[in-house]
Amino acid sequence: MLRIAGGTVYDPANGIDGVVKDLSIADGRVVADGDLSAGARTIDATGMIVMPGGVDVHTHVAGGALNFARGLVPENQRAARKFLHRGDRRAGLGGMTPTTFATGYLYAGMGWTTVNEAAVPVLSARHTHEELHDIPLVDKTSLVLMANNEFVLDLLEAGEVERARHVVSWLVWAAKAYGIKAVNPGGVEAWKWGKNANTLHAPIEGYKTVTPAMIIEGLATIADDLQLPHPVHLHCNNLGVPGNFATTIETMNVLQGHRAHLAHLQFHAYGGDDWTTMRSESARVAEAFTANPTLTADAGAVLFGDAVTITADGPWQHLLYQLTGRKWGNLDVENETGCGIVPYVYKDRSLVNAVQWAVGLELLLLIDDPWRIFLTTDHPNGGCFWRYPEIIHMLMNAEFRREQIQQLPEKARQRIVLADLDREYTLSEVAIITSAGPARSLGLSRKGHLGVGADADVTIYPRRPDHGFLFSYPRYVIKGGAIVVEEGDVREVVDGREFIVRPACDERIEDYIRPLFEKVYTISFANYPVEIERLQNPEVVAAGARHSA
Ligand SMILES: [Zn+2]
Repeated sequence: MLRIAGGTVYDPANGIDGVVKDLSIADGRVVADGDLSAGARTIDATGMIVMPGGVDVHTHVAGGALNFARGLVPENQRAARKFLHRGDRRAGLGGMTPTTFATGYLYAGMGWTTVNEAAVPVLSARHTHEELHDIPLVDKTSLVLMANNEFVLDLLEAGEVERARHVVSWLVWAAKAYGIKAVNPGGVEAWKWGKNANTLHAPIEGYKTVTPAMIIEGLATIADDLQLPHPVHLHCNNLGVPGNFATTIETMNVLQGHRAHLAHLQFHAYGGDDWTTMRSESARVAEAFTANPTLTADAGAVLFGDAVTITADGPWQHLLYQLTGRKWGNLDVENETGCGIVPYVYKDRSLVNAVQWAVGLELLLLIDDPWRIFLTTDHPNGGCFWRYPEIIHMLMNAEFRREQIQQLPEKARQRIVLADLDREYTLSEVAIITSAGPARSLGLSRKGHLGVGADADVTIYPRRPDHGFLFSYPRYVIKGGAIVVEEGDVREVVDGREFIVRPACDERIEDYIRPLFEKVYTISFANYPVEIERLQNPEVVAAGARHSA
């Protein structure tokens, strides 16, 4: 039992904007005042900021792609922050692609308590769950890759949408996932033949009728029909290339009326015809996005410095390799998806990187409704998650932003609109884009708020930190009622849980999948689905019902 007394509470989901009030916690949940016995420990939060723990709607922290990336950049591991074994804290490495234990320490050490692993192939889901379990201090959800799955594409080609829905449902449960991810729909499939899918309305390689638009519309419909708590989570076609804003806006037209989450919107809001004429088109993307109220998005903001790009988008990674001459790795994941890795450095003297840096901030500032756009860096693609406080600082301080803009090349300054934007985020808006908004988009009803019944995930920040930016150094972090961080340092390690979804499914669909699977996959069917027993702390969420108490 715990009482947080005298803090200034920001709980936008419950309409509380900077109100001095106490918070009572028992059995891992927020409870009504007066429900605590006299012996409860009290934290004096006078003069401090109290917020719901952060929720990361799009990150990459576990699974085969991460290990591929970790292996590809040993030089990063050598330079990474070291976590030594101490008490129940395990040894680990921070850096660009933190190891599992360190990932939990770094997220919680910053005040984040829930993360969504945004790209899991069914084929490697078992490994992903083992790593997710090894990430302490945060609760997890994960999304299974579906937009280049040949079973699904073949059914769309045959016009068998209902059977496709059952197959997707079966695959979501087989992966013990929480929702559906779509990466470069059709393009990753085409990449098996060295091709891509650059236009939404042309059939993809190897198919007569299936187009990226058909895949996008099909998966959005299936996610709606299955009543998944989180809608289809979409990485649009033509990521990263000049002129791609038109594809992004066309994707919104294809989605019309459907719920969807657009991942790392920054990478999809560029104008220009080539790399020398690339410019920001954040204003047009923000306008189209605002006009489509069924959509949410995350920023995928870029920070200058080191990154590692990791994505299922193989053709994009090949292009990035050709542009940079850096190391490159590519994997084909049987009939499901692909994977590419390229280490990368964002440079403030580079025109392209400067535009990217501005576009992420511009989208966060131009999209007025903080409930619809959330803070991410597409970790570790645009920068590492542990650098979020730098972005928050820029969002809250227009003067500081302008100082940063002065460092950019003159050419870049002419192609961005960031200097014209005066908006400064309030603390309440920060609480929305880092916690309340992503929790709502994910359909996690006990996350992102501090009302009675909420999971007791609470972050308490000093109002004037001695160490860097406001959100870099929490005074306390409380996870499920346990005080896990004090003075920015991990004090107690607790395991997180995994939220998974079991959508409705005609069980007979297995009779359809099994013979197909045995014909084309390299492992036996019995080893394909992840058994529920393998998950250490699962909480099964029924589709169509938010998992409130
Ligand atoms: Zn991503």
